[in-house]
Amino acid sequence: MEEELKKNLETLKFKPFGYLGGMRGQMEDVIFTANEHPLKGFWLVGDFSNSREVGQVEGFLHKNATVAEIAQLMINLYERLKGMKETKFESKDSKDSFSNQVMLFPNKKESKENSKKEKYRRDNDYFTYKTSEYKCSHCGWKGMGEELEQGDMYDYGVEIHCPECSERFPGLIVFPTTKELMERGTEDDKIVANYSNSFMEKWENSKLRDISQLPDLYDENIAFILKEVEEKKESYIIITHETKVIWKEIRSYEYYWRFVEIGKIFKQKYGDKMVDLVPDVDGLYLYGDRLTSIKTIENFRKELREI
Ligand SMILES: [Zn+2]
Repeated sequence: MEEELKKNLETLKFKPFGYLGGMRGQMEDVIFTANEHPLKGFWLVGDFSNSREVGQVEGFLHKNATVAEIAQLMINLYERLKGMKETKFESKDSKDSFSNQVMLFPNKKESKENSKKEKYRRDNDYFTYKTSEYKCSHCGWKGMGEELEQGDMYDYGVEIHCPECSERFPGLIVFPTTKELMERGTEDDKIVANYSNSFMEKWENSKLRDISQLPDLYDENIAFILKEVEEKKESYIIITHETKVIWKEIRSYEYYWRFVEIGKIFKQKYGDKMVDLVPDVDGLYLYGDRLTSIKTIENFRKELREI
């Protein structure tokens, strides 16, 4: 794997893994494996598993991907796995699973979940368990938390087992929230937490929300063009009409859904004057690796032309 890419992955707390030069990282209960891909730069596979269910999603990025782009892809894969989990287990409340309010360590669980969390937190504090003493009631092993084995992962934490006899210790090590990482984490934790916070905030703030943000246009039969641009190491999508940039916002990975959202707001603003929104991009970021995303965009554009 190339040095620059390796360094970027390390910033996101990836560690070397396996024999083929891969790297492995984690976001909550999702494990990410990064490997070079002969044709597509490198790929990131997100795995989620616990005692009830497994899920796997993957995405590609070019070799010169920035930390921001890798983090975006991680968040995107995380979201998709989260969506898969929620539709399987909590199909009724999965509506907001694809919302854009993504955090590395989501903190908006119901109060019931919170009290469970509080109980586990008392047992094994994420920030101190490594240097706390543990004793196994089964085989008598005594040692520090850092020697414990990790067991199954859940949405809010991971099981811990005795390294001698694999007896399960009570409670879980509860994953910290971004806020807790900022307050109590290591310098590395703070970098990641800070990064995810500021990136998400920046992304949210850059997004088109309603027609009041769009200028009046007096032409007819407008086919807007969507392009991707780089500015000061930040990636954006811009929507242009002739030589004018009508809208610009931060680009995310696999943003076909965002394409449709933006297109709808444009249609609301420009009505009959708008006949198309044309993607003038290579598609790596727009479509990602979702087979259905090309069709989604085609259908949406057809609708635009027919209305
Ligand atoms: Zn034991």
